Amino acid sequence: MAQTVGVIGLGIMGSPMAKNLLKAGFQVTVFNRSRPKMEALVKEGARAAGSPKEVAQGSEVIITMVTDSPDVEQVVLGPGGAIEGVARDGVVIDMSSISPRVTREIAARLAERGAHMLDAPVSGGQGGAINATLSIMVGGDKAIYERCLPVFQALGKTVTYMGGQGMGQVTKLINQILVANTLNGVAEALVFAAKAGADLEATLQAVGGGAAGSWQLANLGPRIIKGDFAPGFMVRLQQKDLRLILEAAREMALPLPATGLVHQLYAALEAEGRGGEGTQALVRVHEKLAGVEARVNKR
Ligand code: NAP
Repeated sequence: MAQTVGVIGLGIMGSPMAKNLLKAGFQVTVFNRSRPKMEALVKEGARAAGSPKEVAQGSEVIITMVTDSPDVEQVVLGPGGAIEGVARDGVVIDMSSISPRVTREIAARLAERGAHMLDAPVSGGQGGAINATLSIMVGGDKAIYERCLPVFQALGKTVTYMGGQGMGQVTKLINQILVANTLNGVAEALVFAAKAGADLEATLQAVGGGAAGSWQLANLGPRIIKGDFAPGFMVRLQQKDLRLILEAAREMALPLPATGLVHQLYAALEAEGRGGEGTQALVRVHEKLAGVEARVNKR
């Protein structure tokens, strides 16, 4: 079993994930492009590295948790990237949400070096990363997946093997179709509730335990009605995922009409400069269309 784990990318997700690896007893080496984000982890016992290559040199398993496909390419394949330091038989686990096609390309480059790759994107949000309750969907070689299970178990509650290279990322896209369309339903329903004069807190309580209940409603409904639009999961990252979904659908000649609509509604938010807000800010678009705000305690 691997004792040494590296984490590249200490954002909203990567930072608490690195903390949970330390808590589980792994020796953890971290790297973040903006150096100050490494300080909190070093205080908790992690070693700071100067580059992804240096992370790879000291780690049997190297986790990447960065933004998009080009970012994973950069930290793995770019100058000073993990590929320059990874041992033969070492494992890179990309836990970012990126393109399945790019995942397979990166895996092929690592294989030329005798190293392995798993794609293991996650769901469960910032809270899931903090509490080690993430859902982790994994693609790649099954024996390598089994070797890395203790690492996954330190980070999440539901770990599912989904098949060959790229199938973890495919599953994440499926997850995001569900997330985006469910949240759009939550936003539309709360604007309807506000216009109809319903008590918004009582509404969440009344419908949350029945057939309409969902993670989106339970976690983001209360934030919407309080006007809390801090991220969690940023609009611009959701847009990245929706773009990946629509690209994959286009390659399969598959129509996704509702998902396409949600992508456009988020584009309206981005046009207002709100890409850094949490995904729950989607309600703002519906509020603008309806001329009513779904908010409690308005002054
Ligand atoms: P975030 O807070 O924006 O963090 C992104 C991290 O990636 C930062 O550490 C950033 O470094 C680093 N990074 C980005 N581009 C880079 C590059 N080219 N070279 C080196 N480092 C780079 O994002 P996050 O919310 O943690 O999300 C990370 C991934 O998890 C994304 O793929 C996202 O879709 C996925 N995800 C997020 C959530 C969620 O709820 N937040 C849930 C599930 C999955 P700097 O600090 O220098 O900018």
